[in-house]
Amino acid sequence: MTLSDSIIYDYVFLGLGCGNGLMLLQLEAEGLLTNKRILVIEPEFIIKNDRTFCFWMEPERVKSCFLSTMVETQWSKVHVGEAVQSLDPLRYYRISGRTLSENVHSVLTRENARIIQARYDGIPSKDGENAQLTILGEQLTASLVFDNRPPSYAESNASETRLFQSFYGWEITSEHPVFDADCFTMMDFNVQQEGATQFMYVLPFDAHRALVEITRFGEALLPSERAEQALISYLTEHSISYSIEDKEKGVIPMFSQAISVNTSSNTWINTGERAGMLKPSTGYSFERSFTYAKQVVQGIKANSKPYLDKKTRFAYYDRLLLQLLRNQPAKGALIFTQLFKQNSAIKVFKFLDERSTLGEDLRILKSLPFGLFVGAAVKDMVWRSSKVLQWLTPMLVLSCLVFLLQAQGQMSLVYGVLGLGMVVLGIPHGALDHLHALKKPWGWNMLGYVLMYLGLGALILGVFSLSPWGGLLLFLGYSMWHFGEADFAHWRFGRSGMALLWGGYILGGILGSHVHETVTILREMRVNVPLDLLANHTFGTWWILSGGAFFIGWKRNRFITTSVLSLLILSALPLIPAFAVFFIFQHSFHGWKKLKELNSESDVQQWIKALPFTLGACLLFGLNAYFESFTWGQVFIFLAALSFPHVVLMATLYRKSSVGA
Ligand SMILES: Cc1cc2nc3c(=O)[nH]c(=O)nc-3n(C[C@H](O)[C@H](O)[C@H](O)COP(=O)(O)OP(=O)(O)OC[C@H]3O[C@@H](n4cnc5c(N)ncnc54)[C@H](O)[C@@H]3O)c2cc1C
Repeated sequence: MTLSDSIIYDYVFLGLGCGNGLMLLQLEAEGLLTNKRILVIEPEFIIKNDRTFCFWMEPERVKSCFLSTMVETQWSKVHVGEAVQSLDPLRYYRISGRTLSENVHSVLTRENARIIQARYDGIPSKDGENAQLTILGEQLTASLVFDNRPPSYAESNASETRLFQSFYGWEITSEHPVFDADCFTMMDFNVQQEGATQFMYVLPFDAHRALVEITRFGEALLPSERAEQALISYLTEHSISYSIEDKEKGVIPMFSQAISVNTSSNTWINTGERAGMLKPSTGYSFERSFTYAKQVVQGIKANSKPYLDKKTRFAYYDRLLLQLLRNQPAKGALIFTQLFKQNSAIKVFKFLDERSTLGEDLRILKSLPFGLFVGAAVKDMVWRSSKVLQWLTPMLVLSCLVFLLQAQGQMSLVYGVLGLGMVVLGIPHGALDHLHALKKPWGWNMLGYVLMYLGLGALILGVFSLSPWGGLLLFLGYSMWHFGEADFAHWRFGRSGMALLWGGYILGGILGSHVHETVTILREMRVNVPLDLLANHTFGTWWILSGGAFFIGWKRNRFITTSVLSLLILSALPLIPAFAVFFIFQHSFHGWKKLKELNSESDVQQWIKALPFTLGACLLFGLNAYFESFTWGQVFIFLAALSFPHVVLMATLYRKSSVGA
């Protein structure tokens, strides 16, 4: 018989760890496995004893369910900090991995389930009302899949933390009755911290036997040799003579990032860590997985969706605590000691179970080293708001500002702001070429440089006077190249032909959305463009949107997105302010930053060094306006001449700096 043979499995279990084990036992307890076709896909289908499951719970709850038959040890007292506290009305329970495994296996044998010892690496897929799976080349159909496979997590960033809870324990027997069998020790910080947060657990099984375990919360895992040394010191300090019966070793992720797997659906239900049952700040998941299994099974019985109560404020506390443990691991001992010193263990357990009210949360948080948490909360807030601030590029902010000023009829203010921008940033960004073009920027070198600069400028003026069309095309070509190059270098996109395309897109967006003004200026430059050729009013918007979609699709980058948004806003302004906003607050800003990076100077130092050439450019502009008629066409021819040597020199600089990068 092939695996499929048109069987529709009622339940498929992908993985048979804690989450699915508890789900299976809960289904069994509710009588939902009888006469069901069950399939298990698990790479390690063996009785495992690789972990101990401990949890706190009300005894009545335990007695009323299948857990009661599995509990191996229970404690009514906890030794935490300096004190021994009663756990009433709770108990702390222990179930070994072996017991859970054995119970699960015996149910599967009884129900005659099919077992495939393999990994399943597919993603959820559905056909009508049923889930579809392909395993070992066979297509399977299932009414319900329980997916217990370890999840993957979203990418790391500064606000989210990836720590590990690593531990190493010995099950020991002592000749003498040294343990209080009714009291376990939780988080004993009397061990060396070693740059992490480390503590001991002691779980006595009776007066002679106990599991003694060292746990580390940290970015680095606890090495076995260090753990063994710590265990030896601890047992020696407590005058316990012992022999080692068994060892337990493990790692639990303490990640604050979101779990990145498909969310549960009616046919495909995540369980265990995959369903978010692992509390990242404690590493406990057993009780949560048990409660979740009950909710899901109730949902199956009632034919409704599994209900998962997500309390985001607890995820927030977890995130802050994990950040603190990562940034200041030495403070971990202080935080947990205060937690258990100022609050009863019962209240702490309720808080960790995420069942406390907001008032109770605040009382607990107040009892902790408050400054530490306020500091962490502020850092978190700054980081989160900086994510929003990153979108506020100078061009986007100025586009919005100028748009608003225009709407208020404040155009003189607009021209004032832009004029100031030109003097402070627009002209100076192009007045620093001598710093990188000349090894010795003085004397004859400088004279030769100025003459070369004027010569190249004169060349462009010559081209314009011989052929206005030729001058224009040349001007547009090197402007496109230069604008694209400056943006790409600033955004670290690397050198590519796409930079030219981007420069063309930006120029096309600004000019294309102001066709009438552009044509007027071109005529002033003696370039006769038939107006009706360009008179399509929707051309600019079409260009910005379709080109924007192309570039956003290409890079999926916020810089591109904000530039496209800015272009849309700028299309509602007159041409000169629109161009000036881009030229000053994107192009010049990027060029200035690049030069600052290479010159390693402050803004003021750089500005002072640019001052002679800024003044020179202003003088030339004044002379040009005086001797030629002042039209925007004339201004752009002047800018074409002034910018050409700058474009040539900057292109050399960008090339050199990308080779060196
Ligand atoms: C040593 C140790 C002690 C712990 N003590 C406690 C404790 O006292 N209390 C507590 O609450 N928590 C404790 N934990 C944490 C708890 O055990 C885990 O959080 C819990 O086991 C996670 O359950 P899970 O169902 O998500 O995954 P697991 O129990 O790890 O099960 C995942 C299953 O998926 C299978 N699998 C993996 N890949 C695939 C694949 N591709 N296809 C099919 N199957 C796959 C695996 O073989 C495994 O059987 C402890 C953990 C360790 C390691």
